[in-house]
Amino acid sequence: MRSKIVAGNWKMNNNQDETKKLLATLSAKLPDTTAEVMVAPTFVNLSKAVNHLESSLIEVVAQNMHFAENGAYTGEISADMLLNIGVKTVILGHSERRAYFGETDELLAKKVDAALAANMRIIFCFGEELEERKSGSHFEVVKRQLTNALFHLKPEAWSKIVLAYEPVWAIGTGETASPEQAQEMHAFIRKTITEAFDATIADGVSILYGGSVKPNNANEIFSKPDVDGGLIGGASLVCDDFVAIIKAI
Ligand code: PEP
Repeated sequence: MRSKIVAGNWKMNNNQDETKKLLATLSAKLPDTTAEVMVAPTFVNLSKAVNHLESSLIEVVAQNMHFAENGAYTGEISADMLLNIGVKTVILGHSERRAYFGETDELLAKKVDAALAANMRIIFCFGEELEERKSGSHFEVVKRQLTNALFHLKPEAWSKIVLAYEPVWAIGTGETASPEQAQEMHAFIRKTITEAFDATIADGVSILYGGSVKPNNANEIFSKPDVDGGLIGGASLVCDDFVAIIKAI
């Protein structure tokens, strides 16, 4: 059975003191849940966060990593460095990485391979831009992103993959895809994976929705049968909002 997941992407927010404070309140207020709860602080705070959450059910995940094992890649972080501090999951392909740092499907395929080779779990993000939604090419775009970055994988690799459908027009904009739009795309993603692999893989992969999920819309979005949770940006920085979203799942 696929797992329910609520993951908070803190992006480039919170210094060490703020990180400690937010983790302390979040740990204290964490509701009883069968869902997996994850937070993704910035690189410099990962190690402290892992130590802080040692006896907690909250998992600390990274926002990005490089595909090389090591070497002359100034400013980059490898899978081994993450694993060595206790981080076992990495977010790859976030739309901000694609838009501001030129990450392409082809580069992401290399990062996916590197993370899997290191036995890491991946939250793989993808989703269409506003113009692509308006022109009706959103299904085609999503299929292309999945095909280019993930469809070369061996079937067994899928146990390490979590998908996060994040329409770019809904990220940080306050505009959410309607629960029906999210369900429609998530069902399409499962159909696409069934065609490329099989129904067991498609039914077994958790697909999160991301894009302006807030306490007031989480319930409805999470109630859709193909939505297995959320990747949460802005609302994950506000403890009470994140807790309310966790409760919604
Ligand atoms: C995100 O950045 O992954 C995200 C979903 O952000 P927000 O919730 O702020 O739209």
